[in-house]
Amino acid sequence: MTVLRGADDRQKVRDEPAATNDRRKTKIVATLGPASRDERVLNGLVRAGMDVARINLSHGSTAEHAAAIAAVRRVAALRAAPLAVLIDLPGPKLRLGDLPRPLQVKAGETVVLGAPPAAQLPVNFPELLPHFTRDELVLIDDGAVELRVRAVSPSAVTLEVLNDGTIESRKGVNLPDTHLPIGALTAADRELLAWGLGQDVDYVALSFVRCADDVRELKEHIAAAGGDQLVIAKIEKKEALAVHEEIIDAADAVMVARGDLGVEIDPATVPIWQKRIIHAANLAGKPVITATQMLQSMVASPRPTRAEASDVANAIYDATSAVMLSGETAIGCYPAEAVRTMADIARVVESDIEREGRAPQPWAAGRTGVSGAISHGACEVAHRVGAAAIVSATFSGATARAVARNLPAQPIVAVSPNQRVVNQLALCWGVCPLLGRRRGSFEEVVGEANDLVLANGFGQRGEVVVVTAGLQTNLSGKTNLIKAHVLD
Ligand code: ATP
Ligand code: MG
Ligand code: MG
Repeated sequence: MTVLRGADDRQKVRDEPAATNDRRKTKIVATLGPASRDERVLNGLVRAGMDVARINLSHGSTAEHAAAIAAVRRVAALRAAPLAVLIDLPGPKLRLGDLPRPLQVKAGETVVLGAPPAAQLPVNFPELLPHFTRDELVLIDDGAVELRVRAVSPSAVTLEVLNDGTIESRKGVNLPDTHLPIGALTAADRELLAWGLGQDVDYVALSFVRCADDVRELKEHIAAAGGDQLVIAKIEKKEALAVHEEIIDAADAVMVARGDLGVEIDPATVPIWQKRIIHAANLAGKPVITATQMLQSMVASPRPTRAEASDVANAIYDATSAVMLSGETAIGCYPAEAVRTMADIARVVESDIEREGRAPQPWAAGRTGVSGAISHGACEVAHRVGAAAIVSATFSGATARAVARNLPAQPIVAVSPNQRVVNQLALCWGVCPLLGRRRGSFEEVVGEANDLVLANGFGQRGEVVVVTAGLQTNLSGKTNLIKAHVLD
């Protein structure tokens, strides 16, 4: 008999904390902002399923961001939840500066871009204004307001507004037809990076990456500062598409940043690139985030449109590692609902994929190094024996990522002695990271795996788990091992 629940019961169910072995595999990145910096709201986001907190450094102040990061860390500690903090560097992107108030514009009006603070619409790189050309198209806020250049002087550009809309502080300004000469890592980026490394973040994303060297330059800066942060390359430029495989190789993860990408190229081709980039990232074993407007209408409404729910579902069918929320959680009225909606869609789609009896991905079966082969073997064994989980003992996270590359049906329980690595693995598809101790022998690793799997509800006594480790022993260097272990 079906029991229909009343609204009160539904509310109760919604408020239940997520189970510790929440088997969702697709990760959720949520952008923090005025709507979600508060510790109570953050707690709701984590409970709803946020895995990664993204701080967009193109908006807000570093004081606000520092407070948000501290609040995320407190909530993570309180809930014992693995959570990654990602800072997103502006990169070489032309943006508006601060406006005293949002500017309502109507088609046919003119507005003027210029140097701060006097200009009607100040821009962050006024030295680029002479590069605008008469009659070219300009898009503000990922294309929400279209304008056409009517006059250019060395210090100001006059534009005709083509559609009614609202122009707000710090929104992006795109010139789809013009290459603007800005370096990859701007002076502002370097300053923000130094600040962010001091905030102990886990990931640094770079906007407007054009080639693999842009990524390498950022990595060199992080290494020089003694940082252990991983780098996410945002793919949102036409030039980057042509070399996306090299960018993926150079980066630790990538983002399909559809907002700017859909302005840089024909929006009709964005879905094709989404699929290509996701596939290339999976081939390379690097996490890939699908971003922008996934549940956009939830900025103002508690329910997504059907088209948005389908978009999230389709990105998961494409095998994205993570889906992202931007304005929905940064400035929206329903931040927790947006995260919960994504988590619900992910669980439904994943169970549909599982019904097809997912075996390790064939793409992962080709020629690889030892760790790739061992990881694939571990997934193959887990599939054949119906293991409860795959446990990956990992120091740097590489072993867990190598297992995740196979997209196995089992949860990947990653045990690392390094808190940074535990945080970073929160972004990886299918990985449930746990903090463990540094272990010397494979027997010790298996013993710890046994206890952690039981304690965290990933399996029961008598069930099999597959344990894999890339161990550093004194004599033999790096050894890679698999064990099918019966939990006891
Ligand atoms: P990007 O190209 O990096 O995505 P964006 O301008 O599209 O930049 P999002 O991170 O997608 O920014 O966030 C969506 C919107 O949410 C922003 O345009 C901004 O209006 C708002 N927002 C995001 N973070 C903040 C913040 N920290 N403070 C104020 N507003 C914010
Ligand atoms: Mg962007
Ligand atoms: Mg955006």
